[in-house]
Amino acid sequence: SPRIGVLALQGAVAEHARALQAAGAEVTSVRRPAELQGLDGLVVPGGESTAMARLAAPVKMFEAVREKHQQEGLALFGTCAGLILMAERVSDAEALEGFERIRGLDVVVRRNAYGSQLDSFTTALDVQGIPEQERPLDAMFIRAPVIEDVAGADVEVLAEAQGSPVAVRQGNVLAASFHPELTQDHRLHAHFVDLSAG
Ligand code: GLN
Repeated sequence: SPRIGVLALQGAVAEHARALQAAGAEVTSVRRPAELQGLDGLVVPGGESTAMARLAAPVKMFEAVREKHQQEGLALFGTCAGLILMAERVSDAEALEGFERIRGLDVVVRRNAYGSQLDSFTTALDVQGIPEQERPLDAMFIRAPVIEDVAGADVEVLAEAQGSPVAVRQGNVLAASFHPELTQDHRLHAHFVDLSAG
């Protein structure tokens, strides 16, 4: 079974690990570049993108992830804050100024664009590419980033909500603005496990 790491600097790490295990992956947590060795995929969880960027900087974690992705085809799955870190552009980047991000996903995002913690909501999504596509997926949005623009022609929109993309795929890079690890439906994780297997 594919070996998938969960970036464990901050955020919803245990929840992703559980969902990945349920989807059939062998799961490890990753804090240092050396721990990327032998992985087929890496999840960058939700949490706080600024905190993760701060914790990643001293060990040059994001540079290492980018290199593994570009040179060895490491598959990537970013959720919420993870999506922010993987986006090529953040339109309100002030809080991340001076910090490295992973990049690689050709979209533009805006942080906290759905409102505060109190504006959190759950909605049923039609998601392309997952098993049993005809059955909607419950998606939780918590201080989520909005995908303002899909710049890359090879970025496929897998799901939309309120007129914006909320799940996208570009090659073996998957990203969602919501939290698939906080619900019991692991179909998006299963899709990522398949992508990681190549
Ligand atoms: N608002 C957070 C950020 O900007 C993301 C929220 C989340 O991951 N639940 O990083």
